[in-house]
Amino acid sequence: MKDCIFCQIIEGERPADFVYKDESIVVFKDIRPHARVHLLVVPRKHIRSVNDLTEDDGEVISKMILKAKEIAKEQSIASSGYKLVFNVERGGGQYVFHLHMHLVGK
Ligand code: AMP
Ligand code: ZN
Repeated sequence: MKDCIFCQIIEGERPADFVYKDESIVVFKDIRPHARVHLLVVPRKHIRSVNDLTEDDGEVISKMILKAKEIAKEQSIASSGYKLVFNVERGGGQYVFHLHMHLVGK
């Protein structure tokens, strides 16, 4: 998707501070952090929002959550706690229409 900023980040056409990359997901720092740890866990596949998920996306969604759990441990917020948030469409606070999960913790 040419006009999608997260596709541009994934394609290396726009900078980001990556903390993890593999063949199906990437994780990078949110440009406007709301807490000490504020990361975005993003599938490489362009999916608009949770509303657009299908059964075929089950694997990548599960991977996003499991990777977030690992990173939370690495960032020392696993026991203190953190939020995993999907904002869905405008009324749910979504501004970037490429599916992503916020990992937020102090
Ligand atoms: P949402 O409101 O769920 O769509 O969240 C989009 C998030 O993307 C916001 O927290 C923004 O601060 C973040 N964001 C927007 N542009 C960039 C960017 N170029 N690099 C990193 N994070 C970004
Ligand atoms: Zn995209």
